[in-house]
Amino acid sequence: MTSQSTRRIVVIGAGIAGLAAGAALSHAGLPVTVLEAHIYPGGCAASFRYQGHWYDAGATLVAGLAPGGPLQLLGRTAGIESWPARLCDPTMVVHLEDGTIVPRYADERRWETYRSLFPTSLPFWTWQEKTARLLWDFALRLPELRPRSLGSLRDLVAATARWFLAAHPSPAIVLDLWRPLARYLPDDPIFRRFIDAQLLIAAQGVATDIFALYGAAALDLPNAGVAELAGGTGTIARLLVEAIQRQGGSVHFRQEVETIERAGTSWRIRTRQGLVLESSLLIANLTPWGLARIWPEAPKWLRSRTERPPRGWGAFMLYVSLDSSAIPRGTPVHQQILAPGQLGEGRSVFLSLSPEWDGSRAPAGRRAATMSTHTRYEHWWRLAETDRTAYEAEIARYTERMLDTAARALPWLPGAIRAVLPSTPLAFQRFARRPWGWVGGFPQRHPFVGWPTEIVPGLYLVGDSVFPGQSIPATALAGLRVARRILRDLGADLVLAPQEPSMHPPVGDGEPVMAYR
Ligand SMILES: Cc1cc2nc3c(=O)[nH]c(=O)nc-3n(C[C@H](O)[C@H](O)[C@H](O)COP(=O)(O)OP(=O)(O)OC[C@H]3O[C@@H](n4cnc5c(N)ncnc54)[C@H](O)[C@@H]3O)c2cc1C
Repeated sequence: MTSQSTRRIVVIGAGIAGLAAGAALSHAGLPVTVLEAHIYPGGCAASFRYQGHWYDAGATLVAGLAPGGPLQLLGRTAGIESWPARLCDPTMVVHLEDGTIVPRYADERRWETYRSLFPTSLPFWTWQEKTARLLWDFALRLPELRPRSLGSLRDLVAATARWFLAAHPSPAIVLDLWRPLARYLPDDPIFRRFIDAQLLIAAQGVATDIFALYGAAALDLPNAGVAELAGGTGTIARLLVEAIQRQGGSVHFRQEVETIERAGTSWRIRTRQGLVLESSLLIANLTPWGLARIWPEAPKWLRSRTERPPRGWGAFMLYVSLDSSAIPRGTPVHQQILAPGQLGEGRSVFLSLSPEWDGSRAPAGRRAATMSTHTRYEHWWRLAETDRTAYEAEIARYTERMLDTAARALPWLPGAIRAVLPSTPLAFQRFARRPWGWVGGFPQRHPFVGWPTEIVPGLYLVGDSVFPGQSIPATALAGLRVARRILRDLGADLVLAPQEPSMHPPVGDGEPVMAYR
């Protein structure tokens, strides 16, 4: 590697994308420093400690652990040898408002479900699976989508050509970059409702909004190796932090970057806590709005694109302590529950339980649950800024509505609740430093909703605002793509461990898994 390789790379933010990039770069021998504002790594995919529980802050469903999947690629490039995890079966259960219960299985049983519940949907699923396989295959090649040189254009053309030759996609696939997924759905209102609910959590929109290719890939996540991680979702971020440290890099918590500025050919980074660093390369695991806030000299185009708040969603959350004896044994850990009305705003709820086998997540006799619903964040800020009493009343109203929605499908729930901690988009801004508590990235309406990764030479943006968008596997790939690009510029490449990480479920019930502070 060239002498440049000894210069420091600073990563702002220990979200999944920043940590994936940092771990891959340190695994390849580069000096990496990660600055994280919070005391926990993981951002929207962190777990936090509260009253003896480890709650997942946002993301709860971890997909991509099947052989050859995105998280296995992450493990190989980051130097992670095993995931303390067990596969989920079923991966989730969806309760529609008419009482239909749709289990999602990763194996052949899924076809039986489709056949018995939605007989007209079989051609759709055949198309969806074939298309998703093609797309994940493409994304896993970590293509540089906006080539900035003849060399990177050549790489993109070569990667696309190799993919075309290996996968034989129909040329008509190009049209599905613009056509909405709804075009492929049978005329069955109950099935459409099911697909809309799934797309809302996986692509931030419904079938009439989301472009067909993205929708097909997003709907595939439950088939792609969904696992329960010991210690919660935050274990992925913790393992990435440990990998960076083991490989000679450093991760500093409670270091909130306040400003970045150009200093000759380097970047000068200042944190609110008084740390000043210089680096040759900067990776910002931020939203574009978060980047604009810390960069007074940001180019005009970036300022004007971030003048108005982003379109999209916030999340209203409930972190719930449950009496484990009141939960029927074998209850699937992930449940999506719908009530009549428009999706979101407490009428569609995603509920995840800590696994029965993971005693590290809650005090004896309890289990930790995370419940989320999509909500328009503007509404919460308006209330909080104008009428604090109304804001508190709204929290109570949403809490009640979410619990009512969930209890429609899970009648044991009200009797199991021992404590509830609600949280609005304001808390998400504080916890994950996402301006306005805007989460989940852009609704995937067309392939160009994402931002470019190279903002200016030497400054890269990673996270769910860039291709391939939201979710743990997608942001991991975004981070790996940038890591590979940096390494290629240095005449090197990602260093892949020969084997994928194994999956080792912790032994026995209730063993402590990981005590992270
Ligand atoms: C409620 C909810 C549920 C979700 N459910 C799922 C799910 O089940 N499965 C799934 O795969 N995905 C899910 N997602 C999406 C997924 O969590 C996100 O797409 C992904 O985790 C975002 O990662 P990121 O790399 O963009 O970083 P972020 O999560 O945005 O993290 C950025 C990090 O940077 C830090 N930071 C920000 N500014 C600064 C600064 N100035 N200085 C220092 N540090 C800073 C933050 O503290 C944070 O740790 C969910 C998201 C939410 C909100």
